[in-house]
Amino acid sequence: MKFYIMTLFPDMVMGGLNTSIIGRAVGKGLLSVEAVNIRDYAFNKHNSVDDYPYGGGAGMLMQAEPVYQCYKAVEEKMRFGKPRVVYLSPQGRTFCQSMAEEFAKEEELILLCGHYEGIDERVLEEIVTDYVSIGDFVLTGGELPAMMMVDAIARLVPGVLHNDVSAEFESFQDYLLEYPQYSRPEVWHEKKVPGILLSGHHANVEKWRREQSVIRTARNRPDLLEKAALTEAERILAESVMEKKEEDRR
Ligand code: SAM
Repeated sequence: MKFYIMTLFPDMVMGGLNTSIIGRAVGKGLLSVEAVNIRDYAFNKHNSVDDYPYGGGAGMLMQAEPVYQCYKAVEEKMRFGKPRVVYLSPQGRTFCQSMAEEFAKEEELILLCGHYEGIDERVLEEIVTDYVSIGDFVLTGGELPAMMMVDAIARLVPGVLHNDVSAEFESFQDYLLEYPQYSRPEVWHEKKVPGILLSGHHANVEKWRREQSVIRTARNRPDLLEKAALTEAERILAESVMEKKEEDRR
């Protein structure tokens, strides 16, 4: 999969994405990440890409033309037809695991990072296909959100994680949070690893993990359970956890 990130701060993006698992996947040729500097498409002698907003108001706005020319240059490199162009914006749909799964099906993806007060609306209307937010708060730029998106999407690309199974059983995959996990030693600060995990009984371990996922989700993110496919027994378990939490709160 190939990511193109249109940004005013390519070093920030590449520095963050060239390390650890994503960096290794890039090294192996499973992924490619290219940050394209919007400033290279500035059309004045000062290399500036921002200007005052019409109508007044605080801050500066990224101008349409450099963003457009940058997009046209990236579009020329596309090998799989018209790409999806994601504008990172607090006004977009909130990013989530199912969106990461959807984007991971693309061969190529363009991510557009705004800065200052954002970008002239007219170029957004012309090139953007998806508006994505990473949460209800406002950051100074789209670079961190773009890096988050690349990380979440890239780890779903086959081969990026050592073992594809590790992406299958994780929080949000079935609208459940992941069960608690433990590693060596067996006892740490007088806390023991749950005995079932040492039993070697695979089916019982799976049953315990599933229950723990239901309990965790009921306790921490009950909103997810509406979409989770639970058995009758699991639904009763979840309800009892939520009732207990409510009692403790009172
Ligand atoms: N004036 C804009 C508004 O109120 O919608 C916010 C502009 S923000 C200061 C600058 C840039 O940061 C945005 O263009 C966007 O690319 C990025 N950004 C800020 N918060 C974000 C969020 N929650 N999710 C995604 N991108 C965000």
